[in-house]
Amino acid sequence: MSLSRLNTAPIELQFMATKHLGPYDLLSLSHVSTYWRAFVLSDKRWAEWFSKITNNTDDSLETVLTNSNVLDAFSKRTLVYTCIKDKCEVCGAEASQLFILHMERVCDECLETDEFAVLSLGTAAAKYDLRESELYHLIILDWVDPRRTSKRATRLVSDALAKQVAITKFGSEEALTSHLSTKRKSALSTYASKADDYRRAVSTREELQAKGDSQAAENVVLAGTGRKIPKAFPSYPGILGMQSVGKRVNRREACFKLRKLLVVGSEVVVEKGEDE
Ligand SMILES: [Zn+2]
Repeated sequence: MSLSRLNTAPIELQFMATKHLGPYDLLSLSHVSTYWRAFVLSDKRWAEWFSKITNNTDDSLETVLTNSNVLDAFSKRTLVYTCIKDKCEVCGAEASQLFILHMERVCDECLETDEFAVLSLGTAAAKYDLRESELYHLIILDWVDPRRTSKRATRLVSDALAKQVAITKFGSEEALTSHLSTKRKSALSTYASKADDYRRAVSTREELQAKGDSQAAENVVLAGTGRKIPKAFPSYPGILGMQSVGKRVNRREACFKLRKLLVVGSEVVVEKGEDE
């Protein structure tokens, strides 16, 4: 049946005709017109296909997607398509992993480009001079560092998407660059004077201690604030974009390895692992 005839066919006939189409064909159909797009979106099988995919993943794909708010933000149609399409979004090469923060397939090579850099929520906010809450609408992935004893999760976001939020906020990429450059200059000079202040106070205290005047040594304060010398050296401002080693995150932590999925006729089939 040609499409123009299908358009005017009775609704039950339209259902029958599309019942035998698989996800790829349905997708093509959804690009034909807004009518077909709505029709395809309403197809209950997207949800069925999606649960078939999540039920057959070793790890908890569904948990990951639920916790990072992906399930609410994306239609089942988009999720199914992202899962069954095993090509890298950037270069088209084979890609078995899903970059959760973009909900995109990405190959190993493209994953190493700037586009897929991963930051903690706090670092990203500091880097682009945003409030953390301004990034809450992005996909946020809770990640627990296995090398650490603390089980507190780090909230991960995409560097590129955070930058996009900042570009929108400041008007343009140029405006953002100039805003950040002004902010960085001032942060750097504040930091430099704090650091100087700290060094001077510490060396005065050491001199006094060497002279044996422990009471005076105890009373040395920072020239800038008049406060006691803190234990820690002033912390480096986040806007200067230097992440401490402890906060550096491997971008692979934001990826989910998917099993090979095949579309056979109108069904989605999960390829079983060799161990089964
Ligand atoms: Zn690629």
